[in-house]
Amino acid sequence: MDVVAVSTSNLLDYLHDPSPRTLGRSALEWLDRLRKPTVVHVAGRDRSRTRAMATLLHGNEPSGLLALHRWLLEQHTPEVNMLFLLGGVYPAKIPPALSHRQLPYGLDLNRCFRQPFKGEEGAIARALLAELQRVKPECLLDVHNTSGTGPAFAVTITSDAAHQALASLFTNRLVMTDLRLGALMEYSEQEVPTVTIECGGSQEEQAHQLAYEGLVRYTSRADVLSQEKAEWDVNVLRNPIRVELAPEATIEYRLAPTGQADLTFPPDIERRNFGVVSPDEPLGWVGEKGLSILTAIGHNRAETMEQILRVKDGQIYPAQALKAFMITTNPVIAKSDCLFYAVKATGEPIF
Ligand SMILES: [Zn+2]
Repeated sequence: MDVVAVSTSNLLDYLHDPSPRTLGRSALEWLDRLRKPTVVHVAGRDRSRTRAMATLLHGNEPSGLLALHRWLLEQHTPEVNMLFLLGGVYPAKIPPALSHRQLPYGLDLNRCFRQPFKGEEGAIARALLAELQRVKPECLLDVHNTSGTGPAFAVTITSDAAHQALASLFTNRLVMTDLRLGALMEYSEQEVPTVTIECGGSQEEQAHQLAYEGLVRYTSRADVLSQEKAEWDVNVLRNPIRVELAPEATIEYRLAPTGQADLTFPPDIERRNFGVVSPDEPLGWVGEKGLSILTAIGHNRAETMEQILRVKDGQIYPAQALKAFMITTNPVIAKSDCLFYAVKATGEPIF
């Protein structure tokens, strides 16, 4: 079967069992041919069930697109029907391709999967949700890259056996969060096991490879929701607090503070990701404003910083042994999204 351009929504394009001719020789060539956020259907051996995977919700996170392109080119027949949702086609197409998380002046698509579905991104999110509601998949993955480098992990709002089994197709680290941000993974609330996969850095070959291998496991197994079949034992990190930087604060990544910035991290701070940091290990430096430029958000409310960080002679130390992750060295992400997440060294919540 070849491409059938049936549009049930003018916001989305549709591909059915696309042929290698439709896909182009590379993922970039395929992206160049995509005109809108795109829905791809691939018929499986068991036509009574469907699994879904979204990716490219952030236009600069290519692992899922690269994996999907490779998998489609290889013309696999999946165990069950597959529904693929390519969200951020518009930002991804802005030259140089795959460099924009979202449109300039646009919204973050992965914060728009809830009322009031604001702006163009909200309309796209609503159209993608309508596709899911129509097809009723047995589970949903949303494949991303982290902003820096670092190991892969999964994120979910529920950590039951089905969610752990899904995560284990890609990684043994599962972050469970009660935070609600309007992300697609909140589709779990519709009783459809949903897991976000952060494959590692967008420039990392091993992240692309992991996305592909995980996709092969996801599409080729009769059962992806039973833990007995899980690839790895999953290590669950519960309810991390989210440490945010004040919008007006400045951050630098240097080996020593210049005195100009409110916060200074060493350039290799990312190596702390998922490691345990003990209270005697310095993380970075604060300026005159101290820790007042940071906010810790847990369970949708602000918490005190004292249980997380402390300052001694201008240096920042953990207040207790912590496991931190999603530490970024991208100052734009640090300011617009979040600086890092943290749990106790045991994986339990700090609050
Ligand atoms: Zn992302």
